[in-house]
Amino acid sequence: MSDPTPSQAPVIRLVSDHSPDDVVLPFSVEPLDVRGRVVRLGPSVDHILGQHKYPPPVARLVGEAAVLTVLLGTSLKMEGRFQLQTRSDGLIGMLVVDFDAPDRLRAFARYDPDRLAEIDAETELLGKGHLAFTIDQGNEMSRYQGVVALEGQGLEEAAHQYFRQSEQIPTRVRLAVAESVTGAGANWRAGGLMVQFLPSSPERQRQADLDPGTPPPGTAAQVQEEDDAWREAKSLAATIEDHELVDPTLSSERLLYRLFHERGVKVFEPQGVRDSCRCSSEGITNMLKGFSPQERHDMIGDNGKIGVTCEFCSTFREFDPKDFDEG
Ligand SMILES: [Zn+2]
Repeated sequence: MSDPTPSQAPVIRLVSDHSPDDVVLPFSVEPLDVRGRVVRLGPSVDHILGQHKYPPPVARLVGEAAVLTVLLGTSLKMEGRFQLQTRSDGLIGMLVVDFDAPDRLRAFARYDPDRLAEIDAETELLGKGHLAFTIDQGNEMSRYQGVVALEGQGLEEAAHQYFRQSEQIPTRVRLAVAESVTGAGANWRAGGLMVQFLPSSPERQRQADLDPGTPPPGTAAQVQEEDDAWREAKSLAATIEDHELVDPTLSSERLLYRLFHERGVKVFEPQGVRDSCRCSSEGITNMLKGFSPQERHDMIGDNGKIGVTCEFCSTFREFDPKDFDEG
């Protein structure tokens, strides 16, 4: 056996300018001990935002949250669901994005339309509250949740805090959302980049911005020196512009080449993402069965039916109350 299998063979080739939408491209920059992924969302995010008809500031934030969820969810190598959820006192009181492995994405936000006029900065959309990341693999034992306080810092910074506190992996995230208007109409696009510092020696993962805490009495405070490789990767990632992340003509490979060509970047098998809700008549029937007969009675509308709208995909379904009467 002399021929290596294709997956093992190092392939050096020209950068591809093929730029498909709704795709995550994992990559590594080995000289910097960095791994990451680029995501570009087109029709999937356009459909999610379009079906809700969110006002632009709300749509942008839901789009950012969708990008962040895909970046994290596709990096987990898990079965089941990865969920981002915010609860806060801002204009957007609640935002939920579900990523169901391996590729399904859905999202919705609850917001107060009366407060739209008072918002001048995007960070005010969420206000104060918390952001939770939940991994749910179907049983209680494998449920994991990490929570970050929201204090007006925005989703990118909240993600950085999450990785510092919960994962202790030096991480940088960039998120961008834009509505492109052409002769054919307006379409939402979203893109993001995540880079993580994963050296073989954990000693090198120390971060300058990690609070070392109060040293024990009689000892000197430790100065956390950040690794040169991570400092370089972080500053390269910071040079990426929003318009590059949402440009449909700039391929993810070209984008990575622009950032890391001096060090050499390796790309892996791309992963597709699609907007797809998991709601079903059967699932909602089971949910309605969980309510008491009195609660179900209170849900009956003027037409004698129980109407339920899925918050994620806006699908409206009607149920006959008689179907729930046992005997
Ligand atoms: Zn649905």
